[in-house]
Amino acid sequence: MSESGPGQIHDVVILGGGSGGYAAALRASQLGLDVVLIEKDKVGGTCLHRGCIPTKALLHAAEVADSARESERFGVKASFESIDMPGVNKYKDGVIGRLYKGLQGLVSAAKVTYMEGEGRLVAPGTVEVAGTRYQGRNVVLATGSYSRSLPGLDIGGRIVTSDQALNLDSVPQSVIVLGGGVIGVEFASVWRSFGAEVTIVEALPRLVPAEDPAASKALERAFRKRGIAFRTGIRFSGAQQDDEGVTVSLESGDTLRADLLLVAVGRGPNADGFGYQEAGVNMDRGFVLTDERLRTNVEGIFAVGDIVPGLQLAHRGFAQGIFVAEEIAGLAPAPLVESGIPRVTYCDPEVASVGLTEAQARERHGDDNVQTYEYNLAGNGKSQILATAGFVKLVRQKDGPVLGVHMVGARVGELIGESQLIVNWEAFPEEVAQLVHAHPTQNEALGEAHLALAGKPLHAHA
Ligand SMILES: Cc1cc2nc3c(=O)[nH]c(=O)nc-3n(C[C@H](O)[C@H](O)[C@H](O)COP(=O)(O)OP(=O)(O)OC[C@H]3O[C@@H](n4cnc5c(N)ncnc54)[C@H](O)[C@@H]3O)c2cc1C
Repeated sequence: MSESGPGQIHDVVILGGGSGGYAAALRASQLGLDVVLIEKDKVGGTCLHRGCIPTKALLHAAEVADSARESERFGVKASFESIDMPGVNKYKDGVIGRLYKGLQGLVSAAKVTYMEGEGRLVAPGTVEVAGTRYQGRNVVLATGSYSRSLPGLDIGGRIVTSDQALNLDSVPQSVIVLGGGVIGVEFASVWRSFGAEVTIVEALPRLVPAEDPAASKALERAFRKRGIAFRTGIRFSGAQQDDEGVTVSLESGDTLRADLLLVAVGRGPNADGFGYQEAGVNMDRGFVLTDERLRTNVEGIFAVGDIVPGLQLAHRGFAQGIFVAEEIAGLAPAPLVESGIPRVTYCDPEVASVGLTEAQARERHGDDNVQTYEYNLAGNGKSQILATAGFVKLVRQKDGPVLGVHMVGARVGELIGESQLIVNWEAFPEEVAQLVHAHPTQNEALGEAHLALAGKPLHAHA
């Protein structure tokens, strides 16, 4: 057993180099703190290597395929031949590779002490990696999450999680997607564009069940049009695979058959077996519990990212990592407001939201104190040019600020930037209505929705 320099006590020791961990490391180092970052696999974590980036590359390839397929609609003669998965994977891996190299450069330029290996919390301020002990005045737990399965559903062969689905060498002819949440609908969208028959099975009554019901309804309508089948409000009961395919049984007694089954039923915290509980850290169903300053109950131990209950999103991890670094440096940053974190599902059409849903707003402010407005993208020039359908829905407190923005349509994820400023700065629709939005942009739909809610609609009925 050795120590990292005799008696050396670092300012911060971070366990896990994903979005949350590396953001904490970079910010802590900017603030002049002495940082150790421990990562057992690759810096960048799930988001860069198995999550956000590869899925969005696949979704872009899917959009290119659809553009080729639908080109005649725009008067362009092109034809869609086939998907070359090795080619798609090369493009995807190229994007990951460049970002990975850039991130490694940032970590090394930040003079963070980077240690490769599996770390374990052996005492409140001490993490051990391959026989070496690192002591920190502060420890940040950032070990992320893994793809969950269901009891009796073993991953392997034709039954895959997103980890394997990202690296297929051919397009399956048919796929069953178990789970209609973000990851499930994104893969369903990709495979449909690649030419597969896709059926989504979701136990809750609607797709993307965490979103405002209006968004689920619009997405379901669009998926139906695209030929993506879905069974909602129905539970899975078992799956059997053989050489030819996989058969999925539902509690209704129905069975479905396909080449592949994607299990996308959520992500569990990766917080077991690293000594957290033994060190006295409070946990709940595997998640690490923190207060709003991201402190665990053990002095000097913080937690960030997917192991902390809440939205499992990379930008939440970044923000929490930065927060903790600033907290440790004594800057007393303002706590993050979870509902103000933007959420984007990048399927076609995209779903984007920030703030409260209509139901949440009514619960918090009372039925009489909430107003909503839905602007249909049919009235938006740029959306017509792109041939996309959808809406911008605003939820406001009566005579008060905008509480939530909910959108469906191609590329609406790009509108979440302005939406989150509006919600988080608690802007009134009347204030946003004074701001000029460029024509013709999809962004204009956001401006038009605020004009309408302020009582002066332009390209919309009152
Ligand atoms: C398919 C998919 C698509 C996604 N798409 C999006 C998206 O579009 N946008 C978005 O915001 N989010 C997306 N996410 C979620 C996003 O990837 C996560 O929210 C984010 O990666 C969480 O960051 P983290 O730092 O908490 O954990 P992780 O990124 O999981 O990082 C944890 C790191 O800790 C390391 N580690 C674990 N245990 C140890 C140990 N004992 N010692 C040393 N190292 C350890 C792991 O190797 C890993 O690198 C997606 C996720 C998936 C699976």
